[in-house]
Order: sequence, then C-alpha cells, then structure tokens
Amino acid sequence: MTSIEKRSISILGSTGSIGTNTLDVVRHLGGREAFDMVALTGAGNIALLAEQAIGHGARLAVTADESQYIALKDALSGTGIEVAAGQSGLLEAAEAEAQVVMAAIVGTAGLAPTLAAARRGADIALANKECLVSAGDLFLGAIRQGGGRLLPVDSEHNAIFQVLEENQRHAVERVILTASGGPFRTFSRSQMADVTLETARTHPNWSMGLKISIDSASMFNKALEMIEAKHLFNLTPDQVEVIVHPQSIIHSMVGYADGSVLAQLGAPDMRHAIGYALQYPRRAQLPVERLDFAKLARLDFEAPDETRFPALRLARMAMVRGGVQGAVLNGAKEVSLEAFISGTTGFLTMAEVTEAVMEELAHLPPATTMDEVFEADAEARRAARRLLD
Ligand code: NAD
Ligand code: MG
Repeated sequence: MTSIEKRSISILGSTGSIGTNTLDVVRHLGGREAFDMVALTGAGNIALLAEQAIGHGARLAVTADESQYIALKDALSGTGIEVAAGQSGLLEAAEAEAQVVMAAIVGTAGLAPTLAAARRGADIALANKECLVSAGDLFLGAIRQGGGRLLPVDSEHNAIFQVLEENQRHAVERVILTASGGPFRTFSRSQMADVTLETARTHPNWSMGLKISIDSASMFNKALEMIEAKHLFNLTPDQVEVIVHPQSIIHSMVGYADGSVLAQLGAPDMRHAIGYALQYPRRAQLPVERLDFAKLARLDFEAPDETRFPALRLARMAMVRGGVQGAVLNGAKEVSLEAFISGTTGFLTMAEVTEAVMEELAHLPPATTMDEVFEADAEARRAARRLLD
C-alpha cells in the first residue's frame, strides 16, 4: 500500500467496466484509509451497486433508473447510505462534495452529471469520451470556470498526458493515437457486412464495456478519440494521427518539433490510466502486469484504412467542420450502435447512417450553450432513427 494524502472521491458509473476497475485501484491504494467515498452511481445493476456502496462506505448511492429506486432503497436499508434515482439523483451525486470525480458513465448520458461536477470545481478523471466529443469547448470552459483539473483516463489520452512536456507544448508537432484495429483488422468490407454482435464484441486485447467494444470493432472508438484528443490537447485536425498497432502495448505517442517521438508503454490494463489519474502527479505502485520485452519480441504498425473503417474519415470531417459536428457524429453513431446491438441493422450501416446524418445536419450553427449541444444531439438521433426505420 502506498501512503497518500486522503482524498474524497465519487464514481459516476461505478458498476461498469471502468467503474469496477476504479474501485479495484481504490482498494489497492488503501481503500477507506486513502479515499473517502462520497457517491457511487449505476443504472440497472442494483445488487452490485449496493454491494459497492456498503463495501466502500459510500455516503450516497444513485441509480439512473427511477424504476429501481425502491429496490436500491431496500438493498441499502439500515446502512445509513443515502439513496437517490434518476437524472436529479445523478446530478446530486455529481454535486456532492468530492475532490475527484471519476466520469465513467457510458455515452451522452454522462454529459450533464460530468459537467455539473466540472462546474463546481472537482478534479475530473475523464473516461467518458462524449463530454469532449459532443461539447468540447463548452466542457473545457466549465472545467476552467470550476478551477479543477482535467485528468484523461482514456488510455491513449492518458498516455499523451504522461508524455506531453508541459513547458514544450509549443513544440508539439503531432499526437499519434494507437489503435489495435479491433477484431476486424484484417477483414474485407464484404466480410464485415454480415458480422454478428458476438464477434464484434470480442476485443483482441482489452476487456471493456459492450458499447466501446463494438465501437472498437468499427473504429468509431478511435474516431471519438481523435476528436477527444483535438480538444484535450488543443490541436488542429491534421496534428491528430492514428496508427494501427495490434499489440496495444504503446498506448499513444507525441511527436515534437525536433523529430523526437515520446511514447508511453504498458500492459493493456485500464488500471494504469485510472491509477495515474487518481494519483497524479505522483506515480503509485499499481497491480498491473509488467512488460517483458524479451517475450513481446516485436511491435507491429500498419497505416489505418479509412475505406474499410470510414469512422476515421468521419472524425476528420467532424474536426475540420467543428461546431456541433462532434455531437452530430456521436448522436447518430449511438443510435446506429443501439440498432446494431438490438439486431435491427448491420455492422456497416452504422457508418453509412452516421455519414448521411452528418451531411444532412452540416448546416447547424456552432453551439454557444449546452442546450444547443443537446438539441444538435437530439436532431442527429431523430435523423438517424428516420434513416434506420
Ligand atoms: P460500461 O457499459 O461497462 O459501464 C457504464 C456505466 O454507466 C455503468 O455503471 C452503467 O450502469 C452506467 N450507465 C449506463 N447507462 C446509463 C445511463 N443512461 N445513465 C446513467 N448511467 C448509465 O461502460 P465502460 O466500458 O465502463 O465505459 C464507460 C465510459 O468510459 C464510456 O464513455 C467509454 O467510452 C469510456 N472508456 C471506457 C474504457 C474501457 O476500458 N472500458 C476505456 C476508455 C474509455
Ligand atoms: Mg481508448
């Protein structure tokens, strides 16, 4: 156990893949000795949420699903843990005084609570990508206004954050996001046309939630990460590069004006990035596998193929157009992804629908308020549903 100053923390989305990994890191770093657990939130998985809240001594437990309020209340009766539900409950969790908030709700649902935590000045450990993809400038504005730190948890952005020399930002030429290529890296488009949910959800290297696993197979995950990187590190679209690296050992790289490239390497385990964000700027002892270079033997690289993976081209289009195009891309993608998960549409249709929606809504003006971001997101969803019907 590392000796550290006790900090208070809330985890939005504690029952998911990032959430449970975060609790594992918290336990490893000393549990209640090191962290004061303020709020935990989940959606459907009440038994797990209740067990986490009791085990970590949380003050507040929230389910996003209002219909589960009574079930959560029952599961926590007699524990003294406060219970809330729905959107207002999520906001209550975000606003409860914790120094650090892990933003690990999946999708656009994470936007409003993360924004609320940013506005009150919490340090945000950011796993949720949609905050930056859909509302980049406004979200960064909320962080600045609140005065907290923004600590990237997405492994690629965490890697860049680790190797970005703060006093040399002017000398950054490019960032290079690595991509595993997912389960369909070597597939032709015709092979991808009729892949099933089961094969799409099987990631070669990382163990993650369902939606991000499928987004990795379509490379929409990398598309979101390109837009995320642009905002996080204040880059132009052509400074954001992607390279396919099937072993997922190099998590990303920064190229400088002198030609040097700095990379961060590690085993593909999200507890690296989570632990770095929770302990920043200190490096704690973490329970992750150590790299054995003799066993690794080789690291491979391939240029990404935007014809087979059009999501990458769409990300570039969204970055160049700016404004609400990130929100439009993401809203249309989420609807298409849900249709693929429910078996009502094919794998390749996701990018086709997203591109058609981006063309249809290319005229939308930039957003100056969050309401305008939510409106662009809603318009994109309506347009995608119409095309999928
Ligand atoms: P997940 O599906 O495993 O977990 C999502 C969490 O959000 C769960 O706690 C779930 O109960 C909650 N949730 C789901 N729908 C909700 C709603 N409508 N309202 C409120 N809460 C809701 O997802 P995950 O893989 O842990 O990913 C979480 C976020 O982190 C995503 O934005 C993902 O892109 C990002 N991320 C994940 C990984 C990873 O390794 N899993 C890596 C990088 C970034
Ligand atoms: Mg990532």
